Amino acid sequence: MIDSGIGSDDAGVSLDDLPPPEPVPNLAASLDERERCLARSAACRANFSLYMNDARRSAEVRYTPIKLNIENVSRCNFACMMCAGSEWPKGRRAADMSFAAFKALLDEQYGLVEIKLQGLGGPMLQGDPYFAMIRYARDRHIWVRTMTNASLLHLRGNYSKLIDTDVNEAQISIDGADKATYEAIRRQAVFERVVANYILSRGVDIPEDDPH
Ligand code: SF4
Repeated sequence: MIDSGIGSDDAGVSLDDLPPPEPVPNLAASLDERERCLARSAACRANFSLYMNDARRSAEVRYTPIKLNIENVSRCNFACMMCAGSEWPKGRRAADMSFAAFKALLDEQYGLVEIKLQGLGGPMLQGDPYFAMIRYARDRHIWVRTMTNASLLHLRGNYSKLIDTDVNEAQISIDGADKATYEAIRRQAVFERVVANYILSRGVDIPEDDPH
């Protein structure tokens, strides 16, 4: 067994010093939105209360999920060296999730207060159904986190479509701080394109025919 040192006095780091496992860019906003979500229905609030007060000492779970990771697509336009998806036959492990299936899932899971819409794959490849999924969740005040490799933000107005969904968190994954390292890890990626798209996502227009 390897001792990471985390939490030990020797390392000088306690668990309380570490950042939360999930980024919370605006805790007050997330708590406000959670309250709006819980106010949707008595069942949602009762379920959340069960979750918060559960001792978690038994395999028996008395509440329905309050968070879900949802993989709307399992395909990607990159083939990163560390990604299991790069080895999948035909480049995917499942068909894209339909908007109807997503809607049915959220309608069934009345206790949800948060989702992450992305698994192994590039969720934005799906196009409009992806944006509709985020919008559907946001209309119910469910906190939505998504991730992108940023390669498609400049196409078909994707970056503004994403903003218009009212998504709460959009994380951009970048492995490597320079072109050589980045493109060695993120195979089929173009470093300049991703950097330009990051800038675009901050509100700066870049033409679609930009050569990067
Ligand atoms: S961008 Fe993400 S999902 Fe796509 S190949 Fe790389 S690690 Fe896998």
